[in-house]
Amino acid sequence: MSAASTGPAAPLAILFELSHRCPLQCPYCSNPLALERAAAELDTAAWMRVLEEASELGVLQVHFSGGEPTVRKDLEDLVAQAARLGLYSNLITSGVLIDRARLDRLAQAGLDHLQLSIQDSDAANADRIGGYKGGHARKMALAAWVHEAGMALTVNAPVHRQNLEHLEDIIELALSLGAGRLEVAHVQYYGWGLKNRAALLPTRAQLERATVIVEAARARLKGTMVFDYVVPDYYARRPKACMGGWARQFINVTPSGKVMPCHAAETIPDLSFDNVKDRPLGDIWRHSQAFARFRGTAWMPEPCQSCDQREVDWGGCRCQALAILGDAAATDPACAKSPHHEALIALAEAESQAPAPPFTYRRFAAAE
Ligand code: SF4
Ligand code: SF4
Repeated sequence: MSAASTGPAAPLAILFELSHRCPLQCPYCSNPLALERAAAELDTAAWMRVLEEASELGVLQVHFSGGEPTVRKDLEDLVAQAARLGLYSNLITSGVLIDRARLDRLAQAGLDHLQLSIQDSDAANADRIGGYKGGHARKMALAAWVHEAGMALTVNAPVHRQNLEHLEDIIELALSLGAGRLEVAHVQYYGWGLKNRAALLPTRAQLERATVIVEAARARLKGTMVFDYVVPDYYARRPKACMGGWARQFINVTPSGKVMPCHAAETIPDLSFDNVKDRPLGDIWRHSQAFARFRGTAWMPEPCQSCDQREVDWGGCRCQALAILGDAAATDPACAKSPHHEALIALAEAESQAPAPPFTYRRFAAAE
C-alpha cells in the first residue's frame, strides 16, 4: 500500500538533542553553526511528554544526545521515563562530565547503552582536536566504569586527515576498552564539518589505507567487536541512504523542540519545522512540511527518478546537495550519475592535498 493512503510507517528511532551546550569544541561537530542557547531548551515536562508521544507513535529507540546531554540535570529522569515506556535508551556522550556516581545513577534509571566519542588514540592530539585539556583521560576512566557496570558500550571515532594515521591504534584502544561496537566514521561535511573541510578532508590514499585497515580488523575481530564504517561521500561512487532515507526511520528534536528529519536539515532554507510545543509528534511525523518535502521518490529529479537505486539510497543526502550545489532537490553530487560528481572529486583531491588550515573550533560565537 502506498504511504499516501496509509501514512508513513512508524519511525525506528528518535534523537533528542537535549542541549547544544558542550565543554568540547570539535571542529566537525554535527550541531548547527547557530547553536541554540540554554534559555531556549525544553523543560523536563516537555521532554517527558515527547517520550510518551514517541512511544505512542511506535518508536523503539531513543538516543539522548546534544551537545553534551549530561549537562542536563534531568537526564536520569528522562532515562527512567524511557525505561518505563519500554524504549531502548542510548546515551551519546563525550564522557567528560560523568563521574562514577552519575554513571551508576544512569544505570539504575535503566540506561541500556552508552556511546562514547573519542577524538584519537593519542591523548595530546585527542585533546587538541576536541579543544578540551584532559578530556581523553576522563573518557578512558568512564569506559572502564561502563565496562564494570556491564552496560553495552560503543566507541564512536570520527576520523579525518588529522587522526587517520592512528587508525590501527584507535581500533586497539576500542578493543581494550571492551567496546562491543566501534564506529569508524569519516567526518561528514555539513555545518561545522563543512566549515572545517579543508582541515579535515583526507586524501584518497589515506581513505584507501583506512578502508584496508578496517576490513582487516573486521575480519580479525569477528565475534568480538562489530564495526560500523562510514566513508566520506566525496570519494564515493554512490551516495549512502542518508538517515535511512528522508523521513523514513528517524526523528531529530533540537534543544528548543524543533522536529527535523535529520540534524542538518535546518541548513535547507525552504523547509519549515514544527515544534513539539505546538503540535503532537505523531502529527508532525505524518504531516509536517519538512518531513513530506523529500519523503519517498516523487520529489526526485532525473537521473534519480528513473534509476533502479532510488528506493535503495533514496537519492542520497539533501543537505549535501544543498551544501555543494546550492539546491537541496538536486541529485546528490556524491553519486557518479550526477553531472557534478567529477567536479566534487576534483575539489576533494585538490583540497585534501593542500596544507591544512587551523581549525575553527565549535563555539557559541565562532561561526558568527
Ligand atoms: S562533536 Fe564534540 S563539540 Fe560536538 S557535541 Fe560532540 S563532543 Fe561536543
Ligand atoms: S541517480 Fe539518484 S537514485 Fe540513482 S544511484 Fe544516484 S543518487 Fe541514487
